[in-house]
Amino acid sequence: MTTRTPLMAGNWKMNLDWKQGLALVEELGEQLKEVDTTKVETVVLPPFVDLRTVQVAVDAGKLPIAYGSQDISAHESGAYTGEVSGAMLSALGCTYAAVGHSERRQYHGETEEVTNAKVKAAFASGLVPILCVGEPLEERKAGKHVEYTLAQLEGGIEGITAEQAAKIVIAYEPVWAIGTGEVATPDDAQEVCSAIREALRAMHGDTVADAVRVLYGGSVKSSNVGELMQRADVDGALVGGASLKAEEFAKIAGFQ
Ligand code: PGA
Repeated sequence: MTTRTPLMAGNWKMNLDWKQGLALVEELGEQLKEVDTTKVETVVLPPFVDLRTVQVAVDAGKLPIAYGSQDISAHESGAYTGEVSGAMLSALGCTYAAVGHSERRQYHGETEEVTNAKVKAAFASGLVPILCVGEPLEERKAGKHVEYTLAQLEGGIEGITAEQAAKIVIAYEPVWAIGTGEVATPDDAQEVCSAIREALRAMHGDTVADAVRVLYGGSVKSSNVGELMQRADVDGALVGGASLKAEEFAKIAGFQ
């Protein structure tokens, strides 16, 4: 069991228009009344176009929900058609910005350099990056999952300060477990989450390593989150499919 405040983040991906997003966030607020929200941080990551609606609903209802984006531009402002800047997200009250999700890497060709630039862009706007890392199936089969994931971690956080490293959230998401129903075993999750923390310890020392939250992601549901959260280095979950139902996601947040 983690000694840090657990964080449960719902990645809506390209689902829910603003009306559906509004309904979900309001229902989630209701469902979270059953949960001791002083003991867990509940976060939603809606599509960009839903963020303003989520902001208004969270503010109006004083809901115990933080929110953020699924991506962020690596650039500050200007002629970058289609991009959304950290300053814009920050002005919407976002706390978090996911960076380097495997779907961004796979379908949008995001390289380590781009991911690193986005991590820095998030910090520059006062946002906390949720840096996603994790190996594809071939690397797991070859026994190279730790090595592969740590290389992504190192590339993603290159050049950040110790203070920033203590704040960042790392999400370990093995690609073979995302959206497949095939959740990693608690041992698999612990192995890599612990390796991530130890790598951060080697780079930035004990204070950083003991503060940073490392999430597991990939087919997390209310029925498997409890055993994952038993492990010392799993500080929460990044949840895709199961975050689209308020009751189910609130159960995940209430895993204790
Ligand atoms: P999943 O997605 O929970 O649907 O497997 C996780 C993610 O991609 O963040």
